[in-house]
Amino acid sequence: MDQKLERVYESVIARNPGEAEFHQAVREVLESLGPVIDRHPEYLEMKMLERICEPERQIIFRVPWMDDKGEVHINRGFRVEFNSALGPYKGGLRFHPSVYLGVIKFLGFEQIFKNSLTGLPIGGGKGGSDFDPRGKSDSEVMRFCQSFMTELYRHLGEYTDVPAGDIGVGGREIGFMFGQYKRITNRYESGVLTGKGIGWGGSLVRTEATGYGTVVFAEEMLKTRGETLDGKRVMVSGSGNVAIYASEKAAQLGATVVGFSDSSGFVVDEAGIDLDLLKQIKEIERGRVSDYVERRSSAKLGANGSIWDVPVDVALPCATQNELNGDQAATLIRNGVKVVAEGANMPTTPEGVHLFQEAGVLFAPGKAANAGGVATSALEMQQNASRDLWSFEYTEDRLTDIMKNIHEQVAATADSYGRPGDYVMGANIAGFEKVAKAIQAFGLV
Ligand code: GLU
Repeated sequence: MDQKLERVYESVIARNPGEAEFHQAVREVLESLGPVIDRHPEYLEMKMLERICEPERQIIFRVPWMDDKGEVHINRGFRVEFNSALGPYKGGLRFHPSVYLGVIKFLGFEQIFKNSLTGLPIGGGKGGSDFDPRGKSDSEVMRFCQSFMTELYRHLGEYTDVPAGDIGVGGREIGFMFGQYKRITNRYESGVLTGKGIGWGGSLVRTEATGYGTVVFAEEMLKTRGETLDGKRVMVSGSGNVAIYASEKAAQLGATVVGFSDSSGFVVDEAGIDLDLLKQIKEIERGRVSDYVERRSSAKLGANGSIWDVPVDVALPCATQNELNGDQAATLIRNGVKVVAEGANMPTTPEGVHLFQEAGVLFAPGKAANAGGVATSALEMQQNASRDLWSFEYTEDRLTDIMKNIHEQVAATADSYGRPGDYVMGANIAGFEKVAKAIQAFGLV
């Protein structure tokens, strides 16, 4: 890393102790920006990097709720309003026991650049709670969401901050939170949350968007080498929204998806995964990978090792941060992987990224490859603002165009900085430049 940037990085660590994921995300961006500050020394004088690394506002609050047995629980809620240079803060809410300020800050920081890459008017933010929805009844989840929104609502607004889903937050949770926001504010403000149900202001394709977009991005990368996904073997980790719809799009484009996972283990299904069964188990029954294996004769439960031991052409990590480490990257490379596109946020460790890039594997960082989700959230906001509902086909076409544009923009930026094929550098620089220019225009704010 450039020495001047190293100093910025050290001050970020000193100011934000103990937030390992946030440090990792900042480091990855700063490592790309050396050539940018050579071209624009004014960014250093204006403390542009320090400004972007410091959230505009951080909100931490108590979330009390009562379970079905009458026992009281106290969770912690977060919303980090990171950067509003390009539009209202935009980014999901994550409900998972691993959530703490460092995770929310890493996600919010990534979101700034991701949202910038979409070309749509959205700033970056993220929020969530250490609440674990697993094993909770619908009424417990409802009471938690209502309590969470009873504090958060005062910080939100269609022109201020617009949350959506992330791990642990889907249509059910967005419904409970929208209902509470509407009740407290007495406003049917559709544009205040995205990922809503189709009958009440949601956008078609929002559920599919992150996974579909990731696969479109992978296909665009393959095309630069004269190939397509047709006939390729694909491995997808995770089994949430992103993983399910990445699998669906990959299958539509002629690939065979040979496995998926959840926190309890992984499944290998050489016949190609049965998407209807997977959706039934994960979306309706909220079941586990073992339920799939019991009902599908071609499927086996992974006994030892990891999902990344299975030889594939395309790896789509769609579960969570740091799920694919250096050793697993080395195994994938040995087995001939051609493309890795991150459906999750920062799923590959820095060592893994380095190995993929050294081996000439086409590697797409999450902030580019998974931007289709938030881009379609911005399309939902557009539909809400004009009180409209677009068709599935029209919305998917818009998403596909956005993903192709991101690919082109990222590839062209990498080329222009003398690093063809370096999607990490291309995404970081292209995302950063737009934000920096807007901040510069606003003066010292
Ligand atoms: N949580 C998603 C992400 O990581 C989507 C955010 C949104 O739609 O606002 O980008």
